[in-house]
Amino acid sequence: MPKDFKQPKPIQEGLRLMNQCPVCKGDYRADQKNILEQKNEAHLVHITCPHCSNSIVAVIVTTPVGLSSVGMLTDLTAEDVSRLSHRGPMNEDELFASHLLLKERNLSEILSERK
Ligand SMILES: [Zn+2]
Repeated sequence: MPKDFKQPKPIQEGLRLMNQCPVCKGDYRADQKNILEQKNEAHLVHITCPHCSNSIVAVIVTTPVGLSSVGMLTDLTAEDVSRLSHRGPMNEDELFASHLLLKERNLSEILSERK
Protein backbone atom coordinates (compact mmCIF):
# COMPACT_ATOMS: atom_id res chain seq x y z
CA MET A 1 0.00 0.00 0.00
CA PRO A 2 1.43 3.43 -0.90
CA LYS A 3 2.42 5.60 2.03
CA ASP A 4 -0.04 8.36 1.10
CA PHE A 5 -2.98 6.04 0.40
CA LYS A 6 -5.28 7.77 2.91
CA GLN A 7 -4.26 11.30 1.94
CA PRO A 8 -6.37 13.26 -0.56
CA LYS A 9 -4.62 13.84 -3.87
CA PRO A 10 -3.15 17.33 -4.13
CA ILE A 11 -5.15 19.85 -6.14
CA GLN A 12 -2.07 20.43 -8.30
CA GLU A 13 -2.56 16.94 -9.68
CA GLY A 14 -6.13 17.80 -10.66
CA LEU A 15 -5.01 21.02 -12.31
CA ARG A 16 -2.28 19.16 -14.20
CA LEU A 17 -4.95 16.88 -15.69
CA MET A 18 -6.89 19.91 -16.92
CA ASN A 19 -4.31 20.94 -19.47
CA GLN A 20 -6.22 21.25 -22.72
CA CYS A 21 -9.00 23.53 -23.91
CA PRO A 22 -12.14 21.52 -24.81
CA VAL A 23 -12.95 24.00 -27.61
CA CYS A 24 -9.69 24.53 -29.55
CA LYS A 25 -7.56 21.76 -27.99
CA GLY A 26 -4.87 24.34 -27.20
CA ASP A 27 -2.72 23.85 -24.12
CA TYR A 28 -3.49 25.82 -20.97
CA ARG A 29 -0.69 27.56 -19.14
CA ALA A 30 -0.36 26.97 -15.40
CA ASP A 31 -0.79 30.67 -14.61
CA GLN A 32 -4.25 30.71 -16.21
CA LYS A 33 -5.71 28.18 -13.79
CA ASN A 34 -7.32 30.20 -11.03
CA ILE A 35 -8.40 28.42 -7.87
CA LEU A 36 -11.24 30.69 -6.80
CA GLU A 37 -12.44 28.84 -3.75
CA GLN A 38 -11.65 25.82 -1.64
CA LYS A 39 -13.99 24.04 0.75
CA ASN A 40 -12.63 20.88 2.32
CA GLU A 41 -11.47 18.77 -0.63
CA ALA A 42 -13.51 20.66 -3.26
CA HIS A 43 -11.92 23.39 -5.38
CA LEU A 44 -13.68 25.86 -7.66
CA VAL A 45 -11.43 26.55 -10.63
CA HIS A 46 -11.72 29.02 -13.55
CA ILE A 47 -9.53 28.76 -16.64
CA THR A 48 -9.46 31.04 -19.69
CA CYS A 49 -7.88 29.59 -22.81
CA PRO A 50 -4.94 31.72 -24.06
CA HIS A 51 -5.64 30.62 -27.65
CA CYS A 52 -9.41 31.04 -28.17
CA SER A 53 -10.38 33.02 -25.02
CA ASN A 54 -13.16 30.57 -24.09
CA SER A 55 -13.42 29.87 -20.37
CA ILE A 56 -14.37 26.92 -18.26
CA VAL A 57 -15.43 26.74 -14.64
CA ALA A 58 -14.92 23.45 -12.85
CA VAL A 59 -15.18 21.84 -9.46
CA ILE A 60 -12.33 19.47 -8.68
CA VAL A 61 -12.74 17.17 -5.71
CA THR A 62 -9.68 15.45 -4.32
CA THR A 63 -10.16 12.22 -2.39
CA PRO A 64 -7.82 9.56 -1.06
CA VAL A 65 -8.76 7.31 -3.99
CA GLY A 66 -8.49 9.86 -6.77
CA LEU A 67 -9.79 13.01 -8.35
CA SER A 68 -13.20 13.90 -9.66
CA SER A 69 -14.06 16.94 -11.73
CA VAL A 70 -17.13 18.50 -13.27
CA GLY A 71 -16.67 21.42 -15.62
CA MET A 72 -18.56 23.49 -18.15
CA LEU A 73 -17.94 26.24 -20.66
CA THR A 74 -18.84 29.68 -19.37
CA ASP A 75 -18.85 33.29 -20.47
CA LEU A 76 -18.25 34.36 -16.87
CA THR A 77 -14.92 35.86 -15.90
CA ALA A 78 -13.14 34.61 -12.78
CA GLU A 79 -14.38 37.76 -11.00
CA ASP A 80 -17.99 37.02 -12.07
CA VAL A 81 -17.75 33.46 -10.74
CA SER A 82 -16.39 34.65 -7.38
CA ARG A 83 -19.07 37.33 -7.10
CA LEU A 84 -22.00 35.15 -8.18
CA SER A 85 -21.04 31.99 -6.30
CA HIS A 86 -21.96 33.71 -3.02
CA ARG A 87 -25.28 34.96 -4.28
CA GLY A 88 -28.45 33.23 -3.15
CA PRO A 89 -31.11 31.92 -5.52
CA MET A 90 -33.21 34.36 -7.51
CA ASN A 91 -36.24 35.54 -5.52
CA GLU A 92 -39.77 36.15 -6.83
CA ASP A 93 -39.27 39.90 -7.29
CA GLU A 94 -36.12 39.36 -9.34
CA LEU A 95 -37.86 36.72 -11.43
CA PHE A 96 -40.78 39.04 -12.11
CA ALA A 97 -38.42 41.93 -12.99
CA SER A 98 -36.60 39.62 -15.42
CA HIS A 99 -39.89 38.63 -16.99
CA LEU A 100 -40.91 42.28 -17.47
CA LEU A 101 -37.50 43.17 -18.91
CA LEU A 102 -37.64 40.34 -21.44
CA LYS A 103 -41.21 41.26 -22.34
CA GLU A 104 -40.14 44.80 -23.20
CA ARG A 105 -36.74 44.18 -24.76
CA ASN A 106 -34.89 41.72 -26.94
CA LEU A 107 -32.46 39.41 -25.05
CA SER A 108 -29.67 39.84 -27.62
CA GLU A 109 -30.00 43.61 -27.30
CA ILE A 110 -29.62 43.37 -23.50
CA LEU A 111 -26.62 41.03 -23.74
CA SER A 112 -24.88 43.21 -26.31
CA GLU A 113 -24.93 46.09 -23.81
CA ARG A 114 -22.77 44.06 -21.40
CA LYS A 115 -19.70 44.26 -23.65
ZN1 LIG B 1 -9.17 27.27 -26.54
